[in-house]
Amino acid sequence: MTKRVGVIGGGQLARMMIAPAVEMGVEIRVLAEQPGMSARLAESAVGDYRDLETVRAFARDVDVVTFDHEHVPQEVLRALVDEGVAVHPGPHALQFAQDKLVMRRRLAELGVPQPDWAGVASRAELQAFLDDHGGRAVVKTPRGGYDGKGVRVVADAAEADDWFAAFAGERILVEELVDFRRELAQQVARRPSGEMRPYPVVETVQKDGVCAEVFAPAPGIGERAVEVAAEIGTQIAAGLNVTGMLAVELFETADERLLVNELAMRPHNSGHWTQDGAVTSQFEQHLRAVLDLPLGSPDPRADAVCMINILGGPAGQDIDERFADAMADQPEAKVHTYGKASRPGRKVGHVNATADSIEEAAYIARAAAAFFA
Ligand code: ADP
Repeated sequence: MTKRVGVIGGGQLARMMIAPAVEMGVEIRVLAEQPGMSARLAESAVGDYRDLETVRAFARDVDVVTFDHEHVPQEVLRALVDEGVAVHPGPHALQFAQDKLVMRRRLAELGVPQPDWAGVASRAELQAFLDDHGGRAVVKTPRGGYDGKGVRVVADAAEADDWFAAFAGERILVEELVDFRRELAQQVARRPSGEMRPYPVVETVQKDGVCAEVFAPAPGIGERAVEVAAEIGTQIAAGLNVTGMLAVELFETADERLLVNELAMRPHNSGHWTQDGAVTSQFEQHLRAVLDLPLGSPDPRADAVCMINILGGPAGQDIDERFADAMADQPEAKVHTYGKASRPGRKVGHVNATADSIEEAAYIARAAAAFFA
């Protein structure tokens, strides 16, 4: 019988699950926030994912519920699970991707390497942490942050007063300012029966808090670091009982330590390269994992893969024309579009390129992406 996967959220991650679903004979349905979103080809319901009745009605017609984002409230997810709905990742796992303080506490219990951190409830507590860590630190709102929003470097505890006010009575997260050499990302697929498949660790480059470029596998990385990254990923996936795709964002320090920055429990921007550069794309793998089907090989299909995000320009910009120009100029590049209107800074697509060397892959991807600059 055809399996039905319900995806909550109509963004580009849901959109990119559609092609592998079709190939696998899986029926994919999307609960979108608004009509006509990026995943509109599979839109089957429109409504508020915070509303239990809306989500319950959507879940009734599918075999498994999964996500395009991590914002569905715990109460809604727990109610579904109590009613016998298969939810992957489940609410217990998802809480660690929803709240960075909850994540830090749990990773500490697991003994996973991470930056020094504390939960602070007042300016005085924050100042004490600053004094202990060279006078500068990173403060983060525990919930609701994305693309660098909700992250701030401070040198004086008063710089977080607005967040103490907004999160009155709660703690906010403070972390040591890590002097990292570069950022890496480790993905792991895990299915409910426990099978896991780590992908090769990749290098990610952020601009203005947004992922800009990904190099896969991480150039120049030592064999030992590759193993350690995979071990960290599988330890977290198993320890947190993650089902589906897990992304672990890592800092690589100058002395080659790997520290966990944060987690995502869904396909992730750092894994878009897998669409054209791995035997099994992260989107197919996510569907396999949440359906508890055997996982595919995460092996790369080329020596080097480069992914570059395309951000929107001024409103009204004709993206389609630029896409055609990029395709014509760089036929080796794979241009992916999200069917979204252009807005400055908005993720509207990405380019993947594979080659024998990372320099060549980056050249092709950058040449194609330049048409959108
Ligand atoms: P978001 O949830 O918005 O993606 P992150 O926690 O991933 O936020 O932080 C965004 C970026 O801020 C990171 O990619 C990294 O460049 C920087 N950053 C975050 N935490 C630290 C830290 N402890 N030390 C140094 N840089 C950090």
